[in-house]
Amino acid sequence: MDALPIFLNVRDRSCLLVGGGGVAARKAALLLECGALLQVVAPSLGPEIRTWHESGQVHWRCGVFSEGDLEGMTLVIAATNDPEVNQQVSILARQRNLPINVVDAPTLCTFTVPSIIDRSPLVAAISTGGAAPVLARLLRARLETLIPATYGHLASLAAKFRDPVKKHFPNPPDRRRFWEKVLVGPVAELVFSGRQAAAESALAETLSKTDGSSSGIGEVYLVGGGPGDPDLLTFRALRLMQQADVVVHDRLVSEAVLNLTRRDAERIYVGKERNNHVVPQEDINTLLVRLAKAGKRVLRLKGGDPFIFGRGGEEIETLASEGIPFQVVPGITAASGCAAYAGIPLTHRDYSQSCVFVTGHTKDGRMDLPWKGLAQPNQTVVFYMGLIGLSVLCRELMAHGLPSDTPAALVEQGTTPQQRVHIGTVETLPEIMKGQTVRPPTLTIVGHVVKLHDRLSWFAPEHDKKIE
Ligand code: SAH
Repeated sequence: MDALPIFLNVRDRSCLLVGGGGVAARKAALLLECGALLQVVAPSLGPEIRTWHESGQVHWRCGVFSEGDLEGMTLVIAATNDPEVNQQVSILARQRNLPINVVDAPTLCTFTVPSIIDRSPLVAAISTGGAAPVLARLLRARLETLIPATYGHLASLAAKFRDPVKKHFPNPPDRRRFWEKVLVGPVAELVFSGRQAAAESALAETLSKTDGSSSGIGEVYLVGGGPGDPDLLTFRALRLMQQADVVVHDRLVSEAVLNLTRRDAERIYVGKERNNHVVPQEDINTLLVRLAKAGKRVLRLKGGDPFIFGRGGEEIETLASEGIPFQVVPGITAASGCAAYAGIPLTHRDYSQSCVFVTGHTKDGRMDLPWKGLAQPNQTVVFYMGLIGLSVLCRELMAHGLPSDTPAALVEQGTTPQQRVHIGTVETLPEIMKGQTVRPPTLTIVGHVVKLHDRLSWFAPEHDKKIE
């Protein structure tokens, strides 16, 4: 290593920043975050540092840098746009053995400022020694996605229990095993989902058992898997998917998404199609309860968002009444995913001021929906329904006053490489779809926003290109 990585405590210490512009402001923000007493020397201030100065967070000496400014400082950063001034600051600081950083001039520095992942009190710093700062930033971005935003709370919790755990496990290897278990298990999940108090009592309970075992009851994660493209998963969804012991999934969860669950997790399919018979909702509810009671971390993985036509509410009601811990992770619902990937904004100031999501079943060629409210101008309606209902819904909308030339789109397997978008009007779309081989799932978007598809469509899966 060319440099010694250390973390310097500058709280309540005087630090000098030479320069008052935008570059200096970024360094100032960092120093202020670490509690430094910030002294700025510059002939004038940019807007950010001026604001901090006016609110009393920054001391400012108006003028050019002089040697006396170094007096009593713990650390110095030079961020002026004058290379000569920067060099002079560097030389004088080094004569006094003060740590000095000159922005974008590695040869004038005795320390560099790393890329930082801040989950205080947990902080990770990445440096390439000035060789490739962009590389450090890229790596940082990757790590940011891996480390939950609330990771720091876990560190705080661990700090709180540090002494009791040490007392309980005098033997370091035992202690390490205990922490390893706690920091990736249910206690950690409670912290990440914002249930600090529950996490604390779970940790206390785990510690009270001499063998360090946990309470034995599992947890259910009700997770929205999005419309198909695995890139649309949330960070939390992905983390829980990689943790769960059992995955309970249904038809709408794409293979690509399912493949991101833990490799050795047990998979239970509860959809229809494969054996053409649906597992009744009640059985799914009791299955989740049974698995959690057996101490499993259960991933209930649903297509789209679990609370939008996903029966998520029913499933967690049963869990709640059985006292089983659970958490709900939202997903991108099919309407948002399909609209975005088809280039159809769901609202638009010129075309649509509201958007309605509906679903329904056809029965005897009819569909029981509040048609009058749906057949409104300046509104987008998204029908979460397969192709079967298309002609009924188009007919009903027209019968309730929607002009027959209102644009309509049917999005097939939205957000996946197989996505196709079929465009027509409420009058023509059913006809257009006749004789086409269409694969589920599909949804229908009705409203003038559909016109924008021509100009805004951007997602072009490979199979579309071949057709062209
Ligand atoms: N909870 C899900 C919706 C379940 S209802 C969500 O929030 O998206 C099932 C209906 O959603 C399907 O019949 C279909 O109309 C629609 N759907 C789900 N995924 C889709 C996709 N990738 N493309 C098109 N429609 C989809």
